[in-house]
Amino acid sequence: MDWTLFTGKMLDWYRGAARVLPWRENRDPYRIWVSEIMLQQTRVDTVIPYYNRFMETFPCVEALANADETALLKHWEGLGYYTRARNLQKAAKMIMETYQGIFPERFEDVRKLPGIGDYTAGAICSIAFEQPTPAVDGNVLRVLSRLTADDSDVMKPETRKQYTLRLQEIYPAEGRGDFTQSLMELGALICLPGTPKCTDCPVQTLCLAYTKGASERYPVKTPKKEKKVERLTVFLISDGKHLAISKREQGLLSNMWQFPNVSGWLSTDAAREEMGKMGYSATQICDCGRMKHIFTHIEWQMQVYHCTVNKVEAPYLTDEITLPTAFRKLLQVEQEKE
Ligand code: SF4
Repeated sequence: MDWTLFTGKMLDWYRGAARVLPWRENRDPYRIWVSEIMLQQTRVDTVIPYYNRFMETFPCVEALANADETALLKHWEGLGYYTRARNLQKAAKMIMETYQGIFPERFEDVRKLPGIGDYTAGAICSIAFEQPTPAVDGNVLRVLSRLTADDSDVMKPETRKQYTLRLQEIYPAEGRGDFTQSLMELGALICLPGTPKCTDCPVQTLCLAYTKGASERYPVKTPKKEKKVERLTVFLISDGKHLAISKREQGLLSNMWQFPNVSGWLSTDAAREEMGKMGYSATQICDCGRMKHIFTHIEWQMQVYHCTVNKVEAPYLTDEITLPTAFRKLLQVEQEKE
């Protein structure tokens, strides 16, 4: 593979074909960071209006650090995964305290900020600071796997590591941010999952999978093992001020705090009865639907009931309590009730 030719073609293509997106207006690390966090698990078209509103209200690190949490979450409403918003603010506070409000430039420092993993740190450092720090996500894994007709399993961390190392070696001397974005853009617009648009591809002549007529055979992925499914009924018992919690006695997350729950899905009547066994009489029970939480080998499917009571007895949730994500994500239900 002629990697110099590859990077040159990618840069030429990106500079002519890149979509106009609000976070590409300049190279402000703050704007790039917020966009990358919003784009996790969310489509570009969905993100754009959220992003524009967010930037109007919180235009810089300081504004975000000082934001009222309720206002911040309101700007996130509908995007889901609220931990992302909370981590953004935690990181903004850290930047204010540790770096006097100036976004850090070193990959290692950026990587340490809450909510930032290798991919996001790589994207920020290369796009904002022109560093040779690859941002390898599913799109980039797919492009590289096809380009080199590589039979390595892209689900394996080792493959990601090898691709990251390979990219670090081939970064051009100038246009590093553009090169990072060109890989993302090719994966998003041309080298699509399923059937890639090879006839429109700027690196078609270099692509080994295309040459072999095997574009759709790559990337190689080990089929995911079927996860074991467990059904639970979870009770968000609230008196408007406090939420009841209990200690998990056994199994997954044993000894951690949890919202009271029982195995299996209960009807509203059965849920009311179960509340009685816990010593509560609910003035209102609201069926909040089902939520999933996926662990490595198990998937929890949780039927959630929001139960209003006159008084929640201790223990109840406070800021000091560590609540596993599987339960913490249900707080969204409680916030929606407020
Ligand atoms: S030629 Fe096709 S398979 Fe190869 S990189 Fe381009 S779009 Fe992907």
